[in-house]
Amino acid sequence: MSTFTMAPELATRADKLIRKHHTHLKEIPILYVWRDKATRAGGRLVLGKASRLTGRNAYLIGAAIGGQGELYDYEHDDDADHTRFVIEIAADVWLLLTDDNERDALLDHELSHCRLDDEGRLVLRDHDVSEFAHIVKRYGLWRDDLREFGEAVEHQLSLELESSSK
Ligand SMILES: [Zn+2]
Repeated sequence: MSTFTMAPELATRADKLIRKHHTHLKEIPILYVWRDKATRAGGRLVLGKASRLTGRNAYLIGAAIGGQGELYDYEHDDDADHTRFVIEIAADVWLLLTDDNERDALLDHELSHCRLDDEGRLVLRDHDVSEFAHIVKRYGLWRDDLREFGEAVEHQLSLELESSSK
């Protein structure tokens, strides 16, 4: 079974990323937690996970940790939405990520799942692309989302090429 511990050091790193790339999350309560060992899903290692705490669990955690990260006093607002995001990172994987860029990438990835809908409710966003590498090899960038992703990869490769030729 997995064990969990609070991860204040992740919160510190995430705050920097939020200020840079996710300003909509500035005032949003997010809990950061370590999972001791990465799990597997569909044969793949799960490095991190973004989820939501809702309803009673969200209320209880809010009440338990008091004012920390609260927008306002929930106790006196019956209609308050107690929902908050939880970002969980596999500690064993984190230790293997030795460079800051990789660690930021993983955390930034999980933050990218955290979104607000038009009414300001906390919702989770899915990945831009879900595809098998062999399908791209066989059929090319056959969908709009794949073409967009392909452009991002191309852009990144050109930057890397540029910096390696300097
Ligand atoms: Zn993801």
